[in-house]
Amino acid sequence: MIESSSTLGEELLPEPFCTMRRQLVELIDQKTRFGSANIHTKGAVRETASFNLESVYGLRSDVQVHKISGNFRETPHTRAASNPTASAQQDGAARLRLASQDLSLALGRQDIAWDSLRSGAFSLADLRFWTLAKCSPCSGAGSRTCSQCTGYGRTLCGTCRGTTQMKCDNYQCLNGRATCWRCHGNGQVLEVVSRPYTDSNGYTQYRYENEYQRCPEYGCFGGRIQCTRCLGRSLVSCTTCSAMGKVRCAPCFGEGSIKCGSCAATGRSGSLAWADVSLAVEHKLSYPQASPKELATIDKIEGGIEGLAKIARISSPTSVGGHDGDRDAERNTLRTFEVDLFRLTVECDGIPFEIVTYGPQGRWLSTGGVVEHLLNHDLSNIETALVDARRQGWLSRDRATLRDALIKVLASEINIVALTSTHRAGGATPESVAISEDYINRLENATSNAFHLLEVRQAKDLSWRICIATLIAVVLGWSIWGAIEAGAIGIMSISAGEMIRGFFARREMRLIADDAVVNAGVRKRGAVKSTQLLSTGVVVTPALLILVALLYILPSDHPWDGREAEPTSVEDLEGGE
Ligand SMILES: [Zn+2]
Ligand SMILES: [Zn+2]
Ligand SMILES: [Zn+2]
Ligand SMILES: [Zn+2]
Ligand SMILES: [Zn+2]
Repeated sequence: MIESSSTLGEELLPEPFCTMRRQLVELIDQKTRFGSANIHTKGAVRETASFNLESVYGLRSDVQVHKISGNFRETPHTRAASNPTASAQQDGAARLRLASQDLSLALGRQDIAWDSLRSGAFSLADLRFWTLAKCSPCSGAGSRTCSQCTGYGRTLCGTCRGTTQMKCDNYQCLNGRATCWRCHGNGQVLEVVSRPYTDSNGYTQYRYENEYQRCPEYGCFGGRIQCTRCLGRSLVSCTTCSAMGKVRCAPCFGEGSIKCGSCAATGRSGSLAWADVSLAVEHKLSYPQASPKELATIDKIEGGIEGLAKIARISSPTSVGGHDGDRDAERNTLRTFEVDLFRLTVECDGIPFEIVTYGPQGRWLSTGGVVEHLLNHDLSNIETALVDARRQGWLSRDRATLRDALIKVLASEINIVALTSTHRAGGATPESVAISEDYINRLENATSNAFHLLEVRQAKDLSWRICIATLIAVVLGWSIWGAIEAGAIGIMSISAGEMIRGFFARREMRLIADDAVVNAGVRKRGAVKSTQLLSTGVVVTPALLILVALLYILPSDHPWDGREAEPTSVEDLEGGE
């Protein structure tokens, strides 16, 4: 619907165009260094953009079957049936038909919210069907006789096979005899014995000797002795069955019978079945053929269906198909989402720009590039200055043009925000749509290069002064003290020069912008280090070359002091003797 066209008196603009214009003017007046004086309203158009919401409502009847035993208790919600599964299926089909009617009814209501029906249970079973019969695995007994012990609960001991006796469990024992503890199985022990002998004088004397003797332990023959465990019988009472000959049966835990798992020992088993009806809802957004190009962007900004639903006028659902079956049913509906688009055309420098907002809150979609058009004056200016600067060659030291261009660019707050913030502002405000990514990239490159060039050019400007200062300092130092001192003075002079360069560089940057902007502008291109290195090089290298040259040229002996000093010292020496 076209409200008006051609040139408009500003005060005649209807809402929300009046607000749009005011916000744009405020943005330009407050956030840029340009005025909004030459912005003229040319036209205002209200347009309705529509989305389609296709919804699929799927109903399903799912039969669930559970095993039951004789422990099952009836309730008012259960009913005996010969075939519970078939009954549940029948019940499910009947309830699906009802659910399908309910769904149709709900979707036919004019006031139904687009998201009031959600996926989940739609109609839970009110009646469950059951059957119980004699348990077949146990033939209704609830348990069966243990096959291991045939109902006795005890089985033959596996260790002694019922004899109650087992082989002696002393590991040294062999046929009732074990290794002797005294001779360790040798049969002999070493003993000290004294033997008498008669010496040459006829006296009887004793001599001590080590000698192997038969093991004195009672019963030890050849190192083997009667086993103390079995007392020589080589058999002991069975420890497994405590000499009973039988043990408790493992499978039946001594019960003699095993409980039936199928019927939980009740002797009866069967099944319980019911059918639940559930609903699955799916929504899909689509744009009609003739929809405005902005729809996809609005969809993205608002974050899909949920977001769009908050700003759109939503129609009642129209049925566009469906089907009914025994197990499932489906309803397809179509709704339209209508969003207002407001297009305001303004003219700036004779060029028309289309400003677009949408929705009841008047969220911004585009400023049509009018802000960028204004800001571009300054950006183009700095880009041209950079091209010129490169053309001027390496020896040029002019900084005024670049500095002025930079100051102009940074006089617009919107540029500073773009440089210093790491992410773009969202929220569909006029600021967030005022400038494009492309513009921001150009801005970053241009400011970064300009800052870089400024610092390096300033370093060039200082370089020759520092060279001369170093020259004078070294020659003076040499003439007063000597060559080594002169070298030290030269190094000091160069360091001081580099410090002075850093100081001036910071002062120059502060003339243009504050530290945050400078750092951000340079950081964006990762050029901080390279700029500093290059500038330092420009200052230090020539001065260092001059120092080296001077130290090479100037003699290391003192030119006029040395000759007079030497004899003096010799005389002093002689005088001392
Ligand atoms: Zn059973
Ligand atoms: Zn058993
Ligand atoms: Zn045993
Ligand atoms: Zn022995
Ligand atoms: Zn033994």
